[in-house]
Amino acid sequence: MKATEKIEIKSLLFSELQTELQGLAERSYRADQIVDWLYKKRVDSIEKMTDLPLSLRKRFADRFSFSKIDIVRVLGSRDTTRKFLFRLSDGNLIESVLIPASPALYGEKSDRQTICISTQVGCAYGCKFCASGLEGFSRNLCANEIVDQIIAIERASGEKIDNIVFMGMGEPLANLKNVIRAIRIINASWGLRIGARHITVSTSGLAPQIKKLADEPLQIRLAVSLHGATDEVRNQIMPINRRYNVETLLSACDYYVAHKKQRLTFEYILIAGVNDADTQAHLLAQHARRLSAKVNLIPYNAVEGLEWSRPSRNRQEKFLSILRAEGVPATLRREKGHDIDAACGQLRLQTSRQERRRAVPA
Ligand code: SF4
Repeated sequence: MKATEKIEIKSLLFSELQTELQGLAERSYRADQIVDWLYKKRVDSIEKMTDLPLSLRKRFADRFSFSKIDIVRVLGSRDTTRKFLFRLSDGNLIESVLIPASPALYGEKSDRQTICISTQVGCAYGCKFCASGLEGFSRNLCANEIVDQIIAIERASGEKIDNIVFMGMGEPLANLKNVIRAIRIINASWGLRIGARHITVSTSGLAPQIKKLADEPLQIRLAVSLHGATDEVRNQIMPINRRYNVETLLSACDYYVAHKKQRLTFEYILIAGVNDADTQAHLLAQHARRLSAKVNLIPYNAVEGLEWSRPSRNRQEKFLSILRAEGVPATLRREKGHDIDAACGQLRLQTSRQERRRAVPA
């Protein structure tokens, strides 16, 4: 970091803030005041921290930056899934989705307000059914940009968010350092105070990072985007499988379950003619039983420019019934957001393409 570069205040952990304040010869109780302004009162500038002396606020403003993200568009209505498109300070676009209380969200009854947040701008992993990877990877989000998605949605919606899923744009475990830092802030009693068991991180299958996450003390939940029960199917739709095949991935999951002593979830997007055969259901059941995992089936959301389609309702139900008959706790996700392009990356993709078209001289 350059000597003149400011520190983003919402990326600091409490102990780091205390250290920074010591460096400025300030009393440690100032740290309590500052996190109170940041995460309880939710002010949007250092100037508004009015119980700090003016001279101190000026020194803080010289030392710290204060990020915010701007809402570009919101799709959806109050009682349904709402999708938020944000512009970051460098102009990049990201998406988050607010999912209202649902009788069967992620396989469980839930009266919780959930948001699905992004961890990267774009994605390098190129899953064939996903819009987020269509324009490649730009950069990782910083911890404050991850936290800001929650704060901005709470402010705009008036809802108290109490469940977080890291399933938006990007591969969370490819940005593990910033994701862990953000989770600490989200979970902390001085931060957003959301319980670790109400925070779920998903991965497309980065086996070594799954083990690293297992070694973290946080009791967060893990969701593995399996989407195929064999290498043949996974290779077809998820390039990551050529690096970490199904067995390597399942071994990392074994490690995670053994260390965390908690049940993980397999996410499985049902795509017609690709991964919805009975044989896939039987093998998926075998993998799930090995790990005592739950399975969350998600009918595919069509993405403009991609070739896949969703199976018929009958096929979806048959797939579900095979899992259940084999003793696997499984749900078929009730659709939310199908009409507003809720699959990850689609709203950003449309908007960035429109903006580029507008920028091209006639
Ligand atoms: S599904 Fe996840 S990992 Fe795969 S391309 Fe989309 S954002 Fe990236």
